[in-house]
Amino acid sequence: MTCLLETTDLRSGYGAIQVLWGVDLAIAAHATVVLLGPNGAGKTTLLKCLMGLLPARAGVIRFRGQDITRLTPRARIRAGLGYMSELAVFPDLTVEENLDLGALFVDRHTARRRRGELYTLFPVLTEKRRQAAGGLSGGQRKMLGVAKALAGEPRLLLMDEPSAGLSPLMVATVLASLAQCRASGLTLLIAEQNVKFLELGDTVFTMEGGRIAFGGTPAAIQADDGLRRAYFGLGMSPRSTEGGLA
Ligand code: ATP
Repeated sequence: MTCLLETTDLRSGYGAIQVLWGVDLAIAAHATVVLLGPNGAGKTTLLKCLMGLLPARAGVIRFRGQDITRLTPRARIRAGLGYMSELAVFPDLTVEENLDLGALFVDRHTARRRRGELYTLFPVLTEKRRQAAGGLSGGQRKMLGVAKALAGEPRLLLMDEPSAGLSPLMVATVLASLAQCRASGLTLLIAEQNVKFLELGDTVFTMEGGRIAFGGTPAAIQADDGLRRAYFGLGMSPRSTEGGLA
C-alpha cells in the first residue's frame, strides 16, 4: 500500500481550546476514506489542519512523502491537496466563476482542459454555467462544490460533510458524483455523520474527542457491537443487519 497522506500525533485547536489530541491517520493512494464522528468530535478541525487553515501545535503531516506540516494552504494546494468546505461554493458568483476560482492555482491551459472535463462529468452545470450558484438546488450546489474542488486537479480531496443540509434524494445524487470521482482514481477523505457514505468507503475512521478511535473496513465497523450501536443505532447481530448501511 502506498500511503498518500499520513499524520502522526497531530495536535491543534483554537486559542486556549485544544481540539485535536494526537491524531494518527494513514490514507492509501486511490482509497476512499470516510471519517465518521459525532458533532464536535473534531472532524472539521482535522480537515482545516490538514489543509493548513489552522496551524498544527504538534505532530507531523506527510503528503506524498513530504513533510507539509508548516506549509501554507497555497503550497499544499500546489502539492495536490483539495478542500471542499461545508459551504462549498460562493452563492453570488456564477457556476463558471466558481469553477475558475477552484482552478486559481493551476495554469490557464490546465484550467481550460479541466473545465471541459468537469462539464462532461456534471452536465447539469453546463446548462447553468452563467447562473448564480445561489440559484442552484442544494444537490446541484454540492455538485458544483465537488467540481470546484476538482478544478484544481487535486490528488487528495478533503470533503467536509458533503451531505449537510441535503434531502436523501440529493444525498444520492452527490454519492453518485463521488462514485465517479472514485472510479477515476481520485483519493478522497470524507468527513461525515451520514453512514450512507460508508457505501463508498474502502476505509473508515471514527473520531471521538479529538482522537481517532477506530480504523478499519466498513464491514469491520458493522461487526463491532459497540460501534454498530453508536453509529447505526442497532443492537442486532451482524447477520440481521445485512445490507444495513442503506
Ligand atoms: P460538526 O460535525 O458539528 O462540524 P466536528 O466533528 O467537525 O463537528 P469541529 O467543528 O472540528 O467538530 O469542532 C470541534 C470542537 O472545536 C468543538 O468543541 C467546537 O466547539 C470547537 N471549535 C470549532 N471551531 C472553533 C473556533 N473557531 N473557535 C473555538 N472553538 C471552536
